[in-house]
Amino acid sequence: IDVYGAPVLGEHEQWLGIVIVSHDITELKRLEQIRKDFVANVSHELRTPVTSIKGFTETLLDGAYKDPETTLSFLEIIEKESLRLEMLVKDLLELSKVEQAGFQVDAMPTDLETLIERAGELVERKLEDKNIELKLELEPVIVQGDTNRLVQVMMNLLINAITYSPAKTVITVRLSKKGDEGIIEVEDQGIGIEASEIDRLFERFYRVDRARSRNSGGTGLGLSIVKHLIEAHHGKVEVASEVGVGTTFTIYLPLAK
Ligand code: ADP
Repeated sequence: IDVYGAPVLGEHEQWLGIVIVSHDITELKRLEQIRKDFVANVSHELRTPVTSIKGFTETLLDGAYKDPETTLSFLEIIEKESLRLEMLVKDLLELSKVEQAGFQVDAMPTDLETLIERAGELVERKLEDKNIELKLELEPVIVQGDTNRLVQVMMNLLINAITYSPAKTVITVRLSKKGDEGIIEVEDQGIGIEASEIDRLFERFYRVDRARSRNSGGTGLGLSIVKHLIEAHHGKVEVASEVGVGTTFTIYLPLAK
């Protein structure tokens, strides 16, 4: 707590009392710490691929290029790290956009049934690669939403479900409505998330298993972006999970009027 005090004197310099102003700065300090951590995280995340690209390029230029096999394997690493860098920059720009005060989505009546089918088609390759079945249990639901943004949300949840599930499992997407809300559930039979980790899941750069996320191409920003996008729709997102059994993300969105 930041406290400031000053005496209050009367017309003839007589002592009238004292004014005390106190600010609770714990919240400010906390926000400042989050900002500092974020900058440190961004720097670290960007530096890792850059260091790798630089190192492998230098080694090639120093003579390693003379061996075609080495050249090929180094170029593959350089390509992979460049793609990672590109994705990080893309996610960072996206996050800074959706986090800005006053960020708004272009909400209009949107058919979620079609939208979910489309998102499913966009992840078909990834599903096939892991032999994962996508089961859709849909009904007609029209919400007030921004199609492109909601496809982005669905892709993020589906790609996570695929990434954190073993091969030959099933991902189920359910669409329903209740009261004045549309409800989307994305359920997987994956590794699950410890109860103690659930609260931090939507934080920027938070990853339960850093190495696993990195290897699968994750940036740790996907769920933060999802949360901001859904909140910009005046909706909410919830997660329920059991380690070794699976995870369900549930999204609530206001129905179109
Ligand atoms: P990432 O790019 O690492 O996937 P996200 O922000 O999308 O970042 O997710 C944050 C973390 O939440 C992930 O690193 C992972 O540990 C956990 N996570 C997200 N979705 C799932 C899921 N369906 N099953 C298990 N863990 C998940």
